[in-house]
Amino acid sequence: MLIDFHAHCFPDALAGRAIAALAERSGLAPCFEGTVSGFKALMERERVDGAVLLNIATNERQQGRVNDFAIAVQLGEPKLHAFGSVHPKAPDFEAELLRLKGAGIRGVKLHPDYIATFADAPELDPIYEQAAALGLCVVLHAGWDFVSPNLIYATPERILNVTKRHKTLNLIAAHLGGFRQWAGAEALLAGQNLYLDTSFAFGEIEPEQARRILQKHDENRLLFGSDAPWLSPKKSFEGLDSLHFPGAWMEKVCSGNALRLLEEGTKKGTRCILKRERSS
Ligand SMILES: [Zn+2]
Repeated sequence: MLIDFHAHCFPDALAGRAIAALAERSGLAPCFEGTVSGFKALMERERVDGAVLLNIATNERQQGRVNDFAIAVQLGEPKLHAFGSVHPKAPDFEAELLRLKGAGIRGVKLHPDYIATFADAPELDPIYEQAAALGLCVVLHAGWDFVSPNLIYATPERILNVTKRHKTLNLIAAHLGGFRQWAGAEALLAGQNLYLDTSFAFGEIEPEQARRILQKHDENRLLFGSDAPWLSPKKSFEGLDSLHFPGAWMEKVCSGNALRLLEEGTKKGTRCILKRERSS
């Protein structure tokens, strides 16, 4: 079984424009056209059994619409888990996290470069805190990104600070903990209190360094991801498979850990919502 914990889709009306703009800025060729139906066809072709779709609110006005899309996918697509997103400048981000939780969403994605906010900035602490209380995962972009080529907002150092301040949060650092910050990810984040996903790493990182990071980290806290449409699940899987980890390890990383984490999210935090409903 293969669960891709890191993929992106857009609403049909936006996908064409969004993918064209991102492809031009990043210089990357997409492996599907960015729609949910296109991704489901890719999953079928590449034998992916389930996926987590990550959405990003890049400004406070977008937050509601991004989450409306996430909730619609979450409710309508049994093989897809859509994560929402909140923006630290949105006055209602707390209510939005409750709305996501109530709709069965299991986590949110934050992209520090898109919101020009350091991963360990104090304004993100209330988001991390409430996500932890509600049992929502937080996926963080990690390392360099083309949207902010000269300033890295989510360095391994800053992500490590987040793990120290929010010990009960299920924090997931993408790209093995630091895209093009591999040495920092290996030294500072591998082995720490967080999850690492394998998205958009293979093809960039030296295979031996990828192996060291994966070996140093808790095998129960590694998640297979692709970053589709920017790397196909098939290519990401081939990169991971070429490292020849044992079968039981692959089973955990490629599906077992994802299933457990998604299941955990359904149980935790419900009491917190009920308490708020009663007091309002
Ligand atoms: Zn991504």
